[in-house]
Parts: sequence; C-alpha cells; structure tokens
Amino acid sequence: MSVTYDFAGRTAFVTGAASGLGRATAVAFARAGAQVALVDLSVDGLEETARLITADGGQALVLPGDVTSEGDVQAAVDRTVERFGRLDAAFNNAGVEQPVQSAADTAKQDWDRIVGVSLTGAFLCTRAQIRHMLQRGGGGAIVNVSSGAGVKGFKGQAAYAAAKHGIIGFTRSAALDHAADGIRVNALCPGIIDTEMIRRFGDTRPGGRDGLIADEPVGRLGKPEEIASAVLWLCSTDAAFTTGTALVVDGGQTT
Ligand code: NAD
Repeated sequence: MSVTYDFAGRTAFVTGAASGLGRATAVAFARAGAQVALVDLSVDGLEETARLITADGGQALVLPGDVTSEGDVQAAVDRTVERFGRLDAAFNNAGVEQPVQSAADTAKQDWDRIVGVSLTGAFLCTRAQIRHMLQRGGGGAIVNVSSGAGVKGFKGQAAYAAAKHGIIGFTRSAALDHAADGIRVNALCPGIIDTEMIRRFGDTRPGGRDGLIADEPVGRLGKPEEIASAVLWLCSTDAAFTTGTALVVDGGQTT
C-alpha cells in the first residue's frame, strides 16, 4: 500500500479474518498501527492471520465465532472492548459463495445460509458495533462487504446477489440513522478478487479461472491488498465526509 494511514491507538474489528480479503485487511490495519480483533469460524486461519500480524510487531486478538450468532457477535465485540478498551473501525466481511444455480434450482437451505452469513451477519455485527460506539461516544467507521453482485444481477447467483443488494440497503439506512452520531457506515463492492473463495468458485463455474479473468475489463483479477486499501481509506479521517456510499472497486467489471 503506497498511502500510509495512521490508526495508532485505534482498534479495528475484522470478520472473515482467517482468509482472503479479511486477512489482507486485518494485516493492513495492523501495519497502520491499529490493534486488530479477528473473527472467523476457522481457528487455524485466525491463528495464521494473528501470526502474520504479531510477526510484524502488531497486536491481534483471536476471536473464533459465527457471525450468524447474535451471542457470538456480542461476545466478540465485548471481548474486543475488554482487551483494547475501544472499537473504532470495523470490516464486516464474512461471507460464503453460491454455487452456480438458477433461481428455480436454489434450495431454501442454500438461500438461508448465504443470506444468513452475508446479510444477517453484517446486520448483527454493525448493530453491536454501533451500540458500543454510541455508548463510548466519539464516533467510528464501519465497512460492510457487498459485491459487484450488490449493484447488478448475475446469472446463477440469485441468493448471493439478494444478500449483497440487501447489504447496500441496510448500510445506506444505518448510515442515515447514525450520521449525526459521527458514525459512518459504508459498503464496499469488490470485483473478482484472487482469494480462496474465487478459487473454489472458479472450479464450479463454466470457463473456470480464465472465464473469471475474461470478465474483468482490466484483464486480471484484483488483489486482496487492493480491497484492503479501499477499506482503510473508508475508515480513515480522509473519508470523514463519506457515509452511506457503496464504493465499487472492480476493475470495471460492472461498468
Ligand atoms: P474467503 O472464502 O477467502 O474468506 C471468507 C471467510 O469468511 C472465511 O475465512 C470463512 O471461514 C469466513 N466465514 C464464513 N462463514 C462465516 C461465519 N458464519 N462466521 C464467521 N466467519 C465466516 O472469501 P473472500 O473472497 O475473502 O470474501 C470475503 C467477502 O468478500 C465475502 O463476503 C465475499 O462474498 C465478498 N466478496 C468477495 C469477492 C471476491 O472476488 N473474492 C468479490 C465480491 C465480494
């Protein structure tokens, strides 16, 4: 990252921190001086992200948990505040992919899982984070992960697109509810970024990885670090006038 942000003395909370965009963003927050709380289902993945952060001189708190559980989310926010005294920035990023299937073939169980992790998870996390920020005073910044599938439809992705469109509606409304409290809430819409999720998804999709690259006008997949820089900007004081936006970072995919 060529722009340097200063999050010294601040605490960032990252979900889906065991892999991909969450790991890259947690590492970027720590390099910018933040203490970072790491939430995910994968304990091994969390330990590895924490190792990357502490090897670099940073501070990380490993919080295994499920973002679809109200109790796990509240406990993670409480433990973050107990350990670091505050929570200033959050990247609510945990999500699961949808195998390519038509709307008619989508099982309710898949719908519930996809909407549950992405949309309900973002709601539960944002709500607990805002409640803490209101109690502490002094504001804060929250970024919820949407997708290109949050701003346009994608064939074979009805449940995923519904969850990601929902995140934008929720984010915009929460931003209006809490703008006067100094709490900014934004959504980020990544294009196709080279992570484990995209490796798995590429294997199930006709055309595979080459087909995914062909969908990116810039001729390559995005790097997780390119999403991390956008998250840090949205959470920084440079973005103090930015709230309720859905920032698209997608190599032109949805243009
Ligand atoms: P990833 O699969 O590499 O990482 C997702 C992480 O979320 C995993 O570590 C997983 O264990 C965790 N997770 C899943 N369910 C969880 C739950 N219930 N509670 C806690 N953690 C849970 O995926 P990624 O590519 O880094 O994607 C991160 C987010 O970005 C997702 O919401 C995804 O939909 C979104 N996104 C990704 C891309 C992309 O191209 N990679 C594009 C647009 C949006």
